[in-house]
Amino acid sequence: MYDYGKCETCDTPLEEKNIQQDFWIKDKLVVIEKVPAGVCPQCGEKVVNAEVGEHIAALLKDSNRINKAPTISVPLIKYEPETVAV
Ligand SMILES: [Zn+2]
Repeated sequence: MYDYGKCETCDTPLEEKNIQQDFWIKDKLVVIEKVPAGVCPQCGEKVVNAEVGEHIAALLKDSNRINKAPTISVPLIKYEPETVAV
């Protein structure tokens, strides 16, 4: 288990969690799941350690893996402020 230390924003001890992170690779949205990260229970700040960061970078460069990966559909909405119920 990795010690993520404290949140830089609010000084709360970070909790280790597996999170989903999304990345835009050119015009493609790629989601990586089960990324080990330190998450601040107070403000939601997320940090990954250097090793995880490097692994993510390697995964995102692996276009074969990305092309073979299962896809999910996500909602696509337009920015239309006047149609949002407040
Ligand atoms: Zn925080």
